[in-house]
Amino acid sequence: MSIPKIDLKNLSPLELEYFISSLGKERYRSLQILRWLYLKGAETFEEMTNLSKSFRQALEQVSFISILHPTYVEESRDGTKKFLFQLEDGHRIESVLIPEKRRLTLCVSTQAGCAMGCRFCLTGQMGFKRNLSTAEIINQILSVRKTLPPQTSITNIVLMGMGEPLNNYENTLRAVILMTHPEAFKFSSRRVTLSTVGLLPQLEQLMKETVRFRLAISLNASNEETRSRLMPSNRHHPMKKVLELCRTFPLPPRVRITFEYVMIEGENDSPEDAKNLLKLLKGIPSKVNLIPLNEAPNIPFRKPPEEKILTFQEILMKGGVTAIVRASKGADISAACGQLQGKPMITHP
Ligand code: SF4
Repeated sequence: MSIPKIDLKNLSPLELEYFISSLGKERYRSLQILRWLYLKGAETFEEMTNLSKSFRQALEQVSFISILHPTYVEESRDGTKKFLFQLEDGHRIESVLIPEKRRLTLCVSTQAGCAMGCRFCLTGQMGFKRNLSTAEIINQILSVRKTLPPQTSITNIVLMGMGEPLNNYENTLRAVILMTHPEAFKFSSRRVTLSTVGLLPQLEQLMKETVRFRLAISLNASNEETRSRLMPSNRHHPMKKVLELCRTFPLPPRVRITFEYVMIEGENDSPEDAKNLLKLLKGIPSKVNLIPLNEAPNIPFRKPPEEKILTFQEILMKGGVTAIVRASKGADISAACGQLQGKPMITHP
């Protein structure tokens, strides 16, 4: 019986080191391979010219390098690009590249579909298909990076595409380690943001990890009842407990937790909601992203009128919390928050 080959992109830097030492090679060889795979984007062993031919042949016998090609790319009027990928088993995932003034942000998926079922999100309506492997998460970055013109680079990564990242804990964390590793993608931890609904056991586990990144909590309500209605996960992971954990989350100096708040008319957009939100966030270094709902035919909600959003923002600002209204990007190609469902041209925080 032959042993299946290992996809090198499914290994963390430490796991790669063990793997390389099991082939009788020194640690620095694993660092060379990291650089080839992630800094230089090598797709074959032949490209790794500072490894001996015999070592490359030995690697090829026991491992391989997976690649992801977009099957479809759409560009929005505002320059946002949506990349659709078909995985080996036929499932489809999406990544969204968002150009802003001084940033080029890539939003990546961590699952095909999502089990969380948030009622304002089309991905939630798809249901859960499966977790992505570490390789499938990071190959989204490599594949999109290859399409960029020279001198252009992705500056920020947000894990806010399809799926709940903490529901795919091991693979997501391994991917974040690769994103921030100095010999792999080299992103500063300030430029990698993981957005979660706040799964309590995983959040507790996350507090013990040494890997650093920015944390965003998808909050979307100012009381338990509304949140449970909008986000079924709240019944098992109540907002109050999520916020208690946020209060003790080990944050470096001057780093804040981002709270995503999708604004939905008549559900969570009243001045009372804004005042309640202020009380809830007390004691947590926080900033709030207000995201006017991206309306879609199958979503039973509307976005609030602009005045209401601005009043909400003003109450938060006067209460001492930075609140930014996020301009919707890519809505015309269904690439905006909550619109990813693995299909081209159909109309998550
Ligand atoms: S908003 Fe995020 S967590 Fe909720 S269903 Fe959509 S993808 Fe899943």
